[in-house]
Amino acid sequence: MGNNRAGQDTSGIPCNLCGSSGADELSLVDRDGNHLRTVICRNCGLVWTDPRPAGVREFYEKEYRLRYKGTYKPKPKHVYRAGKVAVARYERIRGYIRKEMSLLDVGSGGGEFIYLMRKVGCKTIGIEPNEGYAGYAVSEYGLDVRAGFMQDAMLEDGSQDIVTMWHVLEHTEDPTLVIGMAGGWIRQGGILALEVPNVEATCMSPPHRFHLAHLYNFNPDTLRRLGEKAGLKIVEQAVSGDGGNITAIFRKHEVAIPPDSLFIDGNYDRIAGVVRNHTVARHYASRHPYLRFAKKIRSALDEKISTINYAGGKRLLDGIFGLQADAPLRLGDPD
Ligand SMILES: [Zn+2]
Repeated sequence: MGNNRAGQDTSGIPCNLCGSSGADELSLVDRDGNHLRTVICRNCGLVWTDPRPAGVREFYEKEYRLRYKGTYKPKPKHVYRAGKVAVARYERIRGYIRKEMSLLDVGSGGGEFIYLMRKVGCKTIGIEPNEGYAGYAVSEYGLDVRAGFMQDAMLEDGSQDIVTMWHVLEHTEDPTLVIGMAGGWIRQGGILALEVPNVEATCMSPPHRFHLAHLYNFNPDTLRRLGEKAGLKIVEQAVSGDGGNITAIFRKHEVAIPPDSLFIDGNYDRIAGVVRNHTVARHYASRHPYLRFAKKIRSALDEKISTINYAGGKRLLDGIFGLQADAPLRLGDPD
């Protein structure tokens, strides 16, 4: 790997993490078999789409939910699925949550996660670019969800104890700017929790790795370094059991010391190696596709049974969240 690293610049967009313009082509197809050019930075290993698809903002406002879920408003099975995911996300940050904390969720979708966080005692705000989903979260759960992009949100610096971004960063045009903004809204000692797909994942079929809607792709090193660049300190990082997602938790400190160099030694070879070695033949020789299929069938059944007597998102989520909301949180000031 890396034998073409001396080649000429192949990206029209400089690296969003390290600023280098030296990048190599990594893939030319997306998960739907369409042409999508993906490049990797030779200096740090950040992976992005170049050229970028036109009209990114409009795409998110209107098209995204339609294209991937077939509807503007969440269907019962989507509320159910998102409710289960909300519980898992809460469990991941629970150790950092105290009653009365302010929590901002960027990309709050149908509002399921912040509805749970409000139930456990947080003061919540959501930002969601899709108007249909944002409106649903307001009317169904009475949440404070603002329709729009975070770049347009009017929030005070240092006003939030916790900012969460679940599967948001990969969709943004400028991850450095987005992390910097989130870092600005967090008070000293506050937390930024985020999750993104892992570019090193091998749990999906190889042609499914790159996605028109994902402008950037991260591995644990590039994600950590992006936070450090914004002056945040990593306190926890984990890759999901199937290798598909990375969760990172950063803390904001009074004295921010960004890294001296944004070069990440060996990261290019590591990522390019994983992507280029993950072939269709190897994938179907592994146990991943069969496990995924079995899981899909089980989830579909579970969703069917659990939404049979659907009487609105609130009723459904109240059932899923009942136990979580009753569990005691730690009292007092966070460290
Ligand atoms: Zn770079």
